[in-house]
Amino acid sequence: MIVPPVEELPVQKITEVNKAAFCRLLRRDSMSKLICIDPGHGGYDPGVVAGARESDFNLVVALDLKAELEKDGCRVVMTRTSDTALGNNEKADLQQRCKISDNSGADLFLSIHANAGGGNGAEAYCLSGGQGQIMAAELVECLKPVMGYHGTPVKDGSGLYVVKHTAAPAVLLEVGFMDSSDFKLLAANFHRFGALLAPPLIKFLGGSVTPAVNDKEKGLTMIREGLRLLGG
Ligand SMILES: [Zn+2]
Repeated sequence: MIVPPVEELPVQKITEVNKAAFCRLLRRDSMSKLICIDPGHGGYDPGVVAGARESDFNLVVALDLKAELEKDGCRVVMTRTSDTALGNNEKADLQQRCKISDNSGADLFLSIHANAGGGNGAEAYCLSGGQGQIMAAELVECLKPVMGYHGTPVKDGSGLYVVKHTAAPAVLLEVGFMDSSDFKLLAANFHRFGALLAPPLIKFLGGSVTPAVNDKEKGLTMIREGLRLLGG
């Protein structure tokens, strides 16, 4: 292979755009784990209908969370990104959600829901022990500033299909109750939940909760070093 003289090597001009892309790439490389986000219900199955459709609420929170995580270079797979069901009946739908998670090799499965039954506050369902229980506790804790705290928010999820049947540790999060006074909180804050839920997930996925400044500096150092090696 003939190596061109240093001065003939193309040196890409550093613009704000490719600098940002480079920093994002660095962050993505540092993320070893993958999360599967599952907005509950969809299509013919709206979930709870009380003032709004739970399926719509779940999707907004899930897409906001996806955007928050990807902003920090996290790897995310979604079970749905629009108002669709994943099967012709409940069992097929739930099986497909587990399959998407398993096929992606996800390290964590998070199903997002809103509750019914007249209670208050966030609840998270998981299997006992392990990463699922740790994440369940951290996620309800994150929602505390908006949803408050009521009783024992981490509950046994062994009776829930997606919690039981995903290969990855799983959490089914009920952000709040749609048929209680919680509804006002859910409606007033629905675009805040993604940002509230992101920090412990970013930590789990292998990033730093505030990586932007450090990684940007790291990226710039690498660009400078690359330019130096290229003689630029
Ligand atoms: Zn639900």
